[in-house]
Amino acid sequence: MIEFLENIQLKKYNTFGVEAKAHYFVAVSSYDELKSLIANLKPAENKHLIMGGGSNLLFTKDFDGWVMHSEIHGIEIIEETDKQILLKVGSGESWSDFVDFTVEKGWGGLENLSLIPGSVGAAPVQNIGAYGVEQQEAFVNLEACNLITGKKCILNKLECDFDYRHSIFKGAEKGKWFVLNVTYRLEKIPRPNLNYTPLQKAFENTPAEEITVKAVSEAVKGIRRSKLPKPEELGNAGSFFKNPVILHEKFLNIQQHFPQIPFFSSENGKVKIPAGWLIEQAGWKGKQIGNAGVHHQQALVIVNCGKATGKEILQLSKDIQNDVLQKFGIMLEPEVLIL
Ligand SMILES: Cc1cc2nc3c(=O)[nH]c(=O)nc-3n(C[C@H](O)[C@H](O)[C@H](O)COP(=O)(O)OP(=O)(O)OC[C@H]3O[C@@H](n4cnc5c(N)ncnc54)[C@H](O)[C@@H]3O)c2cc1C
Repeated sequence: MIEFLENIQLKKYNTFGVEAKAHYFVAVSSYDELKSLIANLKPAENKHLIMGGGSNLLFTKDFDGWVMHSEIHGIEIIEETDKQILLKVGSGESWSDFVDFTVEKGWGGLENLSLIPGSVGAAPVQNIGAYGVEQQEAFVNLEACNLITGKKCILNKLECDFDYRHSIFKGAEKGKWFVLNVTYRLEKIPRPNLNYTPLQKAFENTPAEEITVKAVSEAVKGIRRSKLPKPEELGNAGSFFKNPVILHEKFLNIQQHFPQIPFFSSENGKVKIPAGWLIEQAGWKGKQIGNAGVHHQQALVIVNCGKATGKEILQLSKDIQNDVLQKFGIMLEPEVLIL
């Protein structure tokens, strides 16, 4: 019989470092354990949450239900040719450690995603991305367990419906699947992706043969360390909001008033605007209200300055949202899951 814990403090399980208790907490280390949990305790019939590293969550109150934490480990080679290698990775593995493993081997594809906190299981759920690359580019498929039936199945890239920080697991199938493992395809003859301007600059004087997977990973780590606060030192969940994607006409309207507004063109003639720029222009960068604040270097990151509660952080995020809406007519959407 699977063991579960009651009234567990989640402070150390979320990178904001806010206090919240889970009514029930269960660590799952295999599919068989999960199947037995589903058959006997039926967590999905109650309030439930699958939690990896807790680096994209904000608890605003105690969680009155089941928290399921993946501790499914292992990295397995499932196919290999001269050019490519397929790796199946347990959802409970640390994403950052997994990327380091591929980088040490010299296999290309994930190096731009170095040092992103959290678990492998959450990577496809969030479709994580950074420095011009999204995990979907190396993704092959994942194996997930249906939380009602206990049956497992394989979902391919199309079925996962990936988009910017989005997948089917945040949309139509929200809360229905526990990701058991994910398979990625890595390149043995890597082609570095230096589309992101600071990365391009970092390598502008480097001969092509020296732009290795390891060199790109180190450069990404360097940029991240210089810009982002470490959650162990200052609680945070990375970017609090998504970059808004707006209609071209609306963008032109805003651009008339703010000619210096940065932007990227997106699909279907839409325009993506850096949320951090909007927040900074609205005057929030470095501001602190009570125990919650906006990071002094990166306006997109909301931080726990000490003993912030989830409610304080949420209130600050709402104040920012309202202010940006008033000043630019754009409603920012949280990237972080608010609970
Ligand atoms: C300092 C910092 C920097 C960051 N930088 C980036 C960045 O550059 N790019 C980026 O995309 N993100 C970034 N993030 C956000 C975060 O790291 C990612 O969203 C990460 O994928 C979350 O992983 P996690 O295991 O902590 O997920 P959690 O926060 O525990 O959960 C996130 C979501 O995934 C679901 N989930 C987790 N595990 C499973 C599973 N096994 N099966 C089904 N659902 C599951 C949860 O239910 C929840 O909906 C950053 C966060 C921090 C703190």
